[in-house]
Amino acid sequence: MKIIDVVANNLTIPYPGKVRPAWQPGLVISSHNFTLVRIFTDEGIMGIGGTSGHLAGVILTQVKPYLVGEDPLAAERLARVYRNAGSGIWCIDMALWDIIGKAARLPLHKLWGSYRNKILAYASAVEMGKPEDRALLAAHYQELGFKAMKLRFHNEKMADDLFILDACLKATQGKMDFMVDANQATNLPSPEQGVVWDFQRAWRMARELEARGGLWLEEPLSRYDFDNLIRLREATEIYIAGGEKNQGLHEFRWLIERGVYDIIQPDCAMSEGVSQLRKVAAMAEIYKRHFVPHHSMSGIGLSAAIHLSCTFPGLTWVELMYEPRTRTIEAYQQLGGILESKIWIDREGYVAAPDGPGLGVILNEKKIDQYTV
Ligand SMILES: [Mg+2]
Repeated sequence: MKIIDVVANNLTIPYPGKVRPAWQPGLVISSHNFTLVRIFTDEGIMGIGGTSGHLAGVILTQVKPYLVGEDPLAAERLARVYRNAGSGIWCIDMALWDIIGKAARLPLHKLWGSYRNKILAYASAVEMGKPEDRALLAAHYQELGFKAMKLRFHNEKMADDLFILDACLKATQGKMDFMVDANQATNLPSPEQGVVWDFQRAWRMARELEARGGLWLEEPLSRYDFDNLIRLREATEIYIAGGEKNQGLHEFRWLIERGVYDIIQPDCAMSEGVSQLRKVAAMAEIYKRHFVPHHSMSGIGLSAAIHLSCTFPGLTWVELMYEPRTRTIEAYQQLGGILESKIWIDREGYVAAPDGPGLGVILNEKKIDQYTV
């Protein structure tokens, strides 16, 4: 089999409402900028990949020339091309593994060796919100069947963050689990600086969450503050999670070997490719860490993350980004209908592994032009 073409589209998919992501204080966004990649082969098999941002230019100039004419099954050799081309470019690896799975006529988790075929999901809120509106949202998630929700803690005062959690616990009568993301390891540009946590704040918050049965505390300190992250992890009982913005196998080696986090959260589009993250999962297993991939930017990356997690023996969760009025499943996960397949929970709050070959993502190609910019 040979690769005959690489097509990359820059898409802009409007959100139904203004999104105020908690991790970029002061920023208001109205659309999802995304790059959709399709890799075509001489045997008629097409692979799909994608990531946030507009990267078509880089893909067409720096990646495509090294891929056309190559064997799409040579995933390890081709990984060297995108490792040198930048972080989001790992979506190419996703597309190649989609081809490999389709050629083998197997869903990726079966090709790699399954451990499970469904994973408990959590609803990942995008906005910081006020206690009253987060409580309503928590009750809504619970009604839909979610067993857990991730809150964003970005208030100046710690007490205001805890008011949010307490309101949510009350609204769900203590029957839902909560995890907290402080996004302190994220450094995306934003109009306001936002609150910056130090060790004492992170430690005090970890103790408060422990007292309330919190599931994990995510990114409590800056990305490379390993000494304080290790100190925090050793001083508290709650799981400390992170890694979504770390890149390269070597960084995950640091995180795992040094004991920076209990829960490792790489992203299939940004951190490394999905096949490279299998190595991270293996290392996490050996060192008795938990492996809970980041949402990976759309239904395409999320499918990759689910296949990967289904091969991991140990605690894992699926992150479903969902803010009902703004960052909807349709706009964010399904790219405005470009993806016909939808990743959603069953009545017990589990997401099933996609059962089609490869990633198991179904594309409506007629919709692509509508959002191409
Ligand atoms: Mg996060």
